[in-house]
Amino acid sequence: MDYPFLSRRIRSLAESQTIGMSKRSRELAATGADVIDLSLGEPDFVTPAHIREAAKKAIDEGYTFYPPIAGFADLREAISNKFKRENQLDYAPDQVVVSTGAKQSIANTVLCLVNPGDEVIIPLPYWVSYLEIVKLAEGITVPLKGKLENKYKITPEDLEKAITPKTKLFIFSSPCNPTGSVYSRDELKALADVFEKHPQVFILSDEIYEHISFTGKHQSFGQFEALRDRLIIVNGVSKGYAMTGWRIGYIGAPKEIAAACDKMQGQITSGASSISQKASVAALNMTNEPTVQMREAFRRRRDLVYNLMKEIPGMVLHLPEGAFYMFPKINSWFGKANGTFRVENATDLCMYLLNFSHVSLVTGEAFGDPECLRLSYATSDDKLVEAIKRIKNGLAALT
Ligand code: PMP
Ligand code: GLU
Repeated sequence: MDYPFLSRRIRSLAESQTIGMSKRSRELAATGADVIDLSLGEPDFVTPAHIREAAKKAIDEGYTFYPPIAGFADLREAISNKFKRENQLDYAPDQVVVSTGAKQSIANTVLCLVNPGDEVIIPLPYWVSYLEIVKLAEGITVPLKGKLENKYKITPEDLEKAITPKTKLFIFSSPCNPTGSVYSRDELKALADVFEKHPQVFILSDEIYEHISFTGKHQSFGQFEALRDRLIIVNGVSKGYAMTGWRIGYIGAPKEIAAACDKMQGQITSGASSISQKASVAALNMTNEPTVQMREAFRRRRDLVYNLMKEIPGMVLHLPEGAFYMFPKINSWFGKANGTFRVENATDLCMYLLNFSHVSLVTGEAFGDPECLRLSYATSDDKLVEAIKRIKNGLAALT
């Protein structure tokens, strides 16, 4: 149904397909179906107890008023210390802006930097919301396809070719959603060398999966001094501390960009939830032990799912090195059918697996790759084993 009174802006915006699939899966479950939801990417762990306690204390201590727009001083200090401690980066508190989730941090940054007609390079597969946020800013998206042989990571040659005098911004995530790929220090350095030749290009480095990486020390563009005056690091507590519902993200950025993002959210949302901010101070300042344990659980599940999936004939997949997603290529089922249900593309296959196998995944089209599906393995071993059994049977029934 078309409602003509809405702005062109909202009418041209696509619905978030990660959120859309999870909604569909909940609707199917509400009819009584036993659906296993591997669509929405969020840790299945409850927020650690000491963080929940800090939130309760904040309520009792009366943190119920508007917080400062860019975040409480103690949280910005905790984030500044986190950058120093974990990344060896100097970001003073006035270079930090706390927002309502990393998603808002990304939106703020894009809206503050991109003018209509500016080009924004986004390695493909990309996380769903990058493209739509750039569209909101009337930027021109320039998807840059990585190759499966290179775990979908782009090369310096690819990057060099994509940059034009109109390029304003580069947006990427490592560890990557949806591929789980992680750029090594050398790979980042090679890209940084290209950026050094093009001083007009800003870099938004989405490091929200920093703590869910199986390759050792997290590598960030931040380590390359020459890029620091045009680098915006986005991070948050959602994934590493199992705090998706608390809605706290942040940036570390040049002072002027931080001030712009402060101004932007001062008009749109004001500061992020005061209670969640106080909980985040505890998350960042206290023990990291639960984060390490969750990472190890994700690593174990990654191995479990990878070993089961690679036994499915026709499934093409790489071993992810971080985040909690598998991104298999599933085009060998295109053109097949089960009864009257024909699978022509990834979206059809996704709907088939939802309706016939009761497993909810996300079509690769959401991430710019119509030959793949995304599976989030951030759930229990039992559910994962059952889900893959169902996927295997569902696929086998396509002939
Ligand atoms: N970036 C990426 C790559 C993500 O996967 C997510 C998770 N939705 C976000 C940003 C947004 O995180 P948040 O929940 O903090 O808004
Ligand atoms: N990051 C998650 C995902 O990609 C959460 C959903 C969203 O915010 O889009 O599934």
